[in-house]
Amino acid sequence: MSGIGKKIISWYAEQGRELSWRETKDPYKIWIAETILQQTRIQQGIQYYYRFMERFPDVVMLAEAEQDEVLKYWEGLGYYSRARNLHAAARQLVEDFGGNFPHHHDQLMLLKGVGPYTSRAISSFAFGQATGVLDGNVMRVMSRLLSDPSPINEQKTRKSWQLIIDDWVAGHDSRDFNHAMMDLGATICTPTNPGCLICPLMDGCKAYKEGTIGFLPQKKKLKRKVRYFQFVILYNEKDEIGIQKRPEKGLWGGLYEVPNREVSLHSWEKGEITKGLHFHHELKHVFTHFDMMIKVYEGPAAHWEGSPNIQFIPIDKISIFAFAKGVLKIFERMGF
Ligand code: SF4
Repeated sequence: MSGIGKKIISWYAEQGRELSWRETKDPYKIWIAETILQQTRIQQGIQYYYRFMERFPDVVMLAEAEQDEVLKYWEGLGYYSRARNLHAAARQLVEDFGGNFPHHHDQLMLLKGVGPYTSRAISSFAFGQATGVLDGNVMRVMSRLLSDPSPINEQKTRKSWQLIIDDWVAGHDSRDFNHAMMDLGATICTPTNPGCLICPLMDGCKAYKEGTIGFLPQKKKLKRKVRYFQFVILYNEKDEIGIQKRPEKGLWGGLYEVPNREVSLHSWEKGEITKGLHFHHELKHVFTHFDMMIKVYEGPAAHWEGSPNIQFIPIDKISIFAFAKGVLKIFERMGF
């Protein structure tokens, strides 16, 4: 496609969105905003962003913080590995890079949790490096411009489109180009009813010419896994509830939870649970790669064995600890 950069940048100058967090060229702010806004709605994410920036205004403050506190500022956002990685990468930046961000995406990728998207976003938005930034909106626009049915959730599609977009951005203002592509996807080349007649790229759009817009983009269907859990709300004689800290690594790493165990579908359905505990409610918690089906039981702690690290806290002290979102949902249903 020739002239795409010029066309889209002039469209952006007139029609681009004004988004406050975009004004900055500070790599730290861009990194935090991009990390929070992944898999989070803008409206919800932006509140977290401002709270987070107020407490951890620069990379040194973040590196010096305790992980528990960082997780507390992330509570409710989900995907807690993002917060743990931010914290670890802040320490890497201080120790290995003197507190400064490298400019090139290859070097940014050395930081814990920084992948192809975030490294290129920082590299382009903070340092103006000529690289394309592929988010979901941009992938949709590209699938249509190229009329390419390759599944957008496959690594090899991303790799080959990265080369194409890097070619498009060359010789242009990289910040403007990437923001323009994102905005075009968010406001005109929308998932349904795209506004082709007012699109600055209509002339060169293959999907428009070939009538394939409705079929694009394509995604490979991933089979969702379902796992079954029993969670227990255990009370001691003072009516305090039992909580425990999860291991640092893995699901909900470093966060607090109530005792629980994974069981077979058969046991879960039959409600096989220790005598003396009673069913309270059932809920589903959705992760990226699987659905967690939860049955919640409650009863005296004396009836439960197998949670050696349990500690008891008064219900009104729950807010002091950082709990996983799924556990917060349980507390809400329990009326805590
Ligand atoms: S012409 Fe239509 S389908 Fe093609 S990029 Fe523009 S809005 Fe998207």
